[in-house]
Parts: sequence; C-alpha cells; structure tokens
Amino acid sequence: MRRVLILGSTGSIGTQALDVIERNNELIVVGLSAGRDHEALLNQAQHHRVETIALADPDAAALASEQWDEGTVFSGIDGIIRLIIETECDIVLNAIVGSAGLPPTVAALGEGIDLALANKESLVVGGELVTQLAEATGAELIPVDSEHSALFQLVHAEQPGTVDRLVLTASGGPFRGRSREELENVSIQDALAHPTWDMGGKITIDSATLMNKGLEIIEAHHLFGVDYSQIDAVIHPQSIIHSLIDLNDGATMAHLGYPDMRVPISYALNYPARADVPIERLDLAQVGSLTFEQPDREAFRCLALAEAAGRAGGSLPCVMNAANEIAVAAFLNEEIPFLAIPEVIERAMDSVEQVPIGHFSQLADLDVEARVKAREAIAETVLD
Ligand code: NDP
Repeated sequence: MRRVLILGSTGSIGTQALDVIERNNELIVVGLSAGRDHEALLNQAQHHRVETIALADPDAAALASEQWDEGTVFSGIDGIIRLIIETECDIVLNAIVGSAGLPPTVAALGEGIDLALANKESLVVGGELVTQLAEATGAELIPVDSEHSALFQLVHAEQPGTVDRLVLTASGGPFRGRSREELENVSIQDALAHPTWDMGGKITIDSATLMNKGLEIIEAHHLFGVDYSQIDAVIHPQSIIHSLIDLNDGATMAHLGYPDMRVPISYALNYPARADVPIERLDLAQVGSLTFEQPDREAFRCLALAEAAGRAGGSLPCVMNAANEIAVAAFLNEEIPFLAIPEVIERAMDSVEQVPIGHFSQLADLDVEARVKAREAIAETVLD
C-alpha cells in the first residue's frame, strides 16, 4: 500500500487525483491540503477518512479547526511543511498552483520523499536547485504535466545519449490562429474556454497566452537536463499526441491518448508500476486527422518571453513567473486587457536586476520584488 499526501487537493488536479486513488487498492490518502477552501477540504477529509489536513490561509485553518474535531488542522505554509514531515507518506503529489508550490517541493525532496509534481512553477522558479536537491537525497521526481509524463516515459525507454530533441505539443488554446489585433478585445470568458482541457483558472489563462508552453519548456529543460536548443514546441489542436522525442537514428517516438489528466496522475502515483484507469481507449479512425502548426510567437509573446527567461537562467525565470502570476490575476480581476499580460511581464523582467541563484532564500526575495514591479507595471499600463 502506497501512502499518498495530496497538496492542493481541492483543485482540478487534486480532485482528479482523489478519483484515481479511490479506484486503486494499492494507494491510500494520508493527508490533504488547500489554500483557503476549508469547506471543500473538510468534505474531502471526511469522505476519504483523512486525519491530518493543512490550509495555507490561517483564517481558513482556524475555521476548519472549529468545525472539525475528528482530526488535526495545520495552519499556514509552515503547516503544509509539517504535514509533509509528519504524515509518514511514501509520495507527495504537489498540485498547488503558482510559486507557492516551491517550499513544499523543497520540503518533500529534502526529506527524501518521492514527489509527483504537477506544480510546474517549482521547476520554473528553482529548477537547478530543485533537481540538485532530488539528486542529493535520492528522491524520485515524477512529472504529472501530461507532456512531461509522456517525455518521462519516452526518454526513460532509451539509452543515454540517443535523444536528439524533445518536442512538446500544445493545443494552442482558445485563441489559436488569431492575430495580435484579433486578441485586443478578448474577454475573460473567451480566455477561460479551453478547447480540450478542463483545468484551474491560472493554467487555463496560461494556455490562452501560450505562457503555459513556455513554462513547460523550462520544466522540460530541468527535468531531462536537455539544452534549450534541443527543445521545441508544436501546436497540435487535437491534444492526442502528448509529446515526441527525436532519436539519433532518425526515429521519432510519440506518446498518444485522449486528453485526460487521470492518466499521467495515475502513472506518477503508481510509478514504476501501472494501474488500470477507466477511460476510453484511443480510436484513431474516429479521431480522423491529427494536425500541426508552428506557434505564433508574435501574437503570443508570452511564449517568447518565457523562452528568453529560460535561456538566460539565473534569476530571470523566477521574475518572469512571479510577474506572470500577478498579470494573470489582474486580467482575471478585469484590471488589464489580455494583451497587457506580456507587457506587464516584460516590464518586470526589465526592471529587476539579473543575478545568479545559489540558494532558495534568494528566490523568495526575488519573487516578492518581481511582484512589486509587476504591480507597478500594471498601474503604468492602466495609465498609458
Ligand atoms: P487549481 O487552481 O484548480 O487548484 C489549485 C490548488 O492549490 C487548490 O487546492 C488551491 O486551494 C491550492 N492553493 C492555491 N493557492 C495556494 C497557496 N498559496 N498555498 C497552498 N495551496 C494553494 O489548479 P490546477 O489543479 O489546475 O493546477 C495545479 C498545478 O498543476 C499548477 O501548477 C498547474 O500548472 C499544474 N497543472 C495542472 C493541470 C490541469 O489539468 N489542471 C495540467 C498540468 C499541470 P483552494 O481550493 O483553497 O484555493
């Protein structure tokens, strides 16, 4: 029996993970956490008979403690870290959204606990330090992102030194094929209407701006130790091919399936075993055709910004990520239009001094500084 701790259990990945675990006799949930939705978290704890939970928001944690006498509620980010250390779990699933997921990633890997990582921002912000930590403690780092789960399976089937190129597929989001001018007046509802994946709000906007693919390129660079010149992205609207690798003998291997996050979640939680997942089997004749196109980096500047941040390395990916989180929240809050998202990110990237990164504490300071700069950029954008 594998003891699983789910961080971010009330979200899109978290609830799908609970569904996967409920159908699998080899997995048991031993702890849950959320940001502030204490009611949903308490319902999950009762349903899955979990005795220890944590809420990042101290007020929400206090309310949960008042309402629940069947278990223990930890509070704040320190409470989430305590949950990781004290629940004696075999694997942590980190499905927190944003750079708030980095400290739990560090805590789990630091304890030598295997990590199923959905929180791509952990690797975007602290990639080198995170992978070094996993190597030092021997903890497995298993990606949950569908593209990276595909790449993980493809790369691990090959001999070292034989993979020439990684190709991540992207659905293109709801605005695929639009020019910059056609993106000027898109609404929040339009941006949230993803054609193939049903996900949390932040990643859905990241998919609409193509920032998500930029974050994933950085994630792939760190996970697989592959240079940026050997990582590419291609738009594939059907989301049937999850990723591809080119090999040195001219062969290209691909990973296919209908888009359903329960597949990579199940793979990560059961790794290296596989378990049954009750989803429809791929019928290519019914799919009919698979199409591909180049991403438009002029209209979707977030992709180019993320690639530039990744290639520069050091502090820039952390700054870019923090600015993106602020810009996406501002868009969802109707403070800025869709096209201002890359503008805010670029201004923040230009205004925070670039430095090399040697320690996690530097990243926390940079994250705060970049958020301040991004808010200043939002104020300027609104005035422009
Ligand atoms: P959601 O927004 O649906 O869920 C986020 C979860 O994180 C919720 O449980 C939320 O709690 C919790 N949370 C929010 N803020 C904090 C915080 N400051 N501290 C602790 N917990 C917090 O996100 P998704 O499930 O869509 O995405 C989660 C991660 O997985 C992201 O990094 C995303 O990029 C990645 N991912 C998601 C995919 C998907 O299909 N959804 C696919 C591939 C990757 P509360 O409910 O209380 O707000």
